[in-house]
Formats: sequence, structure tokens, C-alpha cells
Amino acid sequence: MPELPEVEFAAKRLRDAVAGRVIASLEPLHPSQQRYLPEPARRAAEGLTIARVERRAKIQLVHLHNGAILEVHFRMTGDWEFTRVGDAPPRHERVRLETADGVRVSLVDGRALSVVRLHAPGAFVLPAIGPEPLTDDFTAEGFRTALARRRGPIKPALLDQKLVAGVGNIYASEALWEARINPAAPAHRLSRERVTRLRDAIRLVLETAPTERYYGREDVNENDIWRVYGRDGEPCRRCGATLTRLPQAGRSTFYCSRCQRR
Ligand SMILES: [Zn+2]
Repeated sequence: MPELPEVEFAAKRLRDAVAGRVIASLEPLHPSQQRYLPEPARRAAEGLTIARVERRAKIQLVHLHNGAILEVHFRMTGDWEFTRVGDAPPRHERVRLETADGVRVSLVDGRALSVVRLHAPGAFVLPAIGPEPLTDDFTAEGFRTALARRRGPIKPALLDQKLVAGVGNIYASEALWEARINPAAPAHRLSRERVTRLRDAIRLVLETAPTERYYGREDVNENDIWRVYGRDGEPCRRCGATLTRLPQAGRSTFYCSRCQRR
């Protein structure tokens, strides 16, 4: 599943490919997409200029010059492929956008769970999302205030987009390992020092994220990438103890019970 760093990279690729260009056509190519992009929406998009591409949490927002917005969710397996109008279409193409000067953007998605929606000018409302972790908005003090109101364990709290935007299951485990915090530690009891360490760890794991993992470099071995994620039964790279898998709120958490303290 693409997490924040992968979606950030995808948004950048889309921006580089289409910003400033005019939409010639927008076409859903799979039944799963037709209800999100009904005929009137597709017609409304034609002739509009793409002003800019923004990412908020894991949502890509394509701002059109008249104020309309294309909202894109990759969900489990979505991605962009860029070709020229007239080229052979890529596999698993679900939505196709063509620009007046011949750029073809395909949303490819093996599982067809992605969503592309067009919102009329002024109609889009961003869901309640916390600060972006890689910006100055994500302060240790603000993070601490938000965590102080949480009664549950820290790991599931990190997945709540209202706390901090775009931290998914993999990076939550990785950040807690970096910060030496046990995923079951009560969120509201973390000291100021540990909250600061966790904030820095979240930024570190997102900044150094191996986006090639998602972008098809086949020589990438998942085991070489992660410190804890998916490595239960293997030794901790910091202390050598055996890593554990813990089911939490329906998701798997991976951690070291020796050097990650409650
Ligand atoms: Zn350890």
C-alpha cells in the first residue's frame, strides 16, 4: 500500500507531467470508476487548465483553474503511468486523462480500488486531518497536546489521521522502534522527551522512506529495508532480542520488547 512518501512522490510526478496543461478528456475505463466520474463531471473537466497538484495526507488534489478539484485516492495499489496519446495503453488502466498537447496520464491499479472524483468549484471539503508530519506545523508541543487526550496505546493512535497526517501501518512501527517506545505504551502518559523523540522519529522514517519499494525496483528486498516491519522472529538490529508481532486494532505491529519501553 502506498504510504505518505510514495503518495508525495506520485503527486510530484503528476505535477511535473501536467501542471499548466489543459485537460482534453477525462475517462473512467473501469466500472468501479464510472460512478465517481459520471458523464457531466467528465464533460465539465474538458478544457480546464490544471493549475497545481497538492498532497494532503494520502490524498492527491488536482486544482483546476476554475476552482474545481480532482480528488485522487490510490488506496491499496494505485499509481500513475505517463505516456503519450496514441501509445499502447498500460495494463490495469482505470482512469485516463489526456491533455490538449498529447500527454496521457493513466491511473493504473491492479485491484481497481482507487478513487478519482471531480468536485465543482467550492464543493470540496477536506476531511479533518492533522498536521503534515514533514512540515513545521508538526510541532512537538502540538503533538504532545494531542496525545495527552488519547486514552489508548500509542501505535493505533499514530494511524489516526486527525492526530498526524499520512502515517500508515509500516511507518508507525518503524518510528516507534526508532524512538524506542513500546507500541502498547499509553499515548497520554508519554513524557515530553519521548514525544519529541517520537516526532523526530516519524520525520526521520518518512524522510528516508524507500519509495522504490513501491515503484517497482525488483531488486529491493523488503527485509533489507525495514527495522522491524514484517521481521517478527528475527533479531533486533539494535539490541539483538527477538522481534515480536503484536495484533493491535486489527493491524499487525512489529517491535522489540527489550529496547522499546512502555
Ligand atoms: Zn531491541
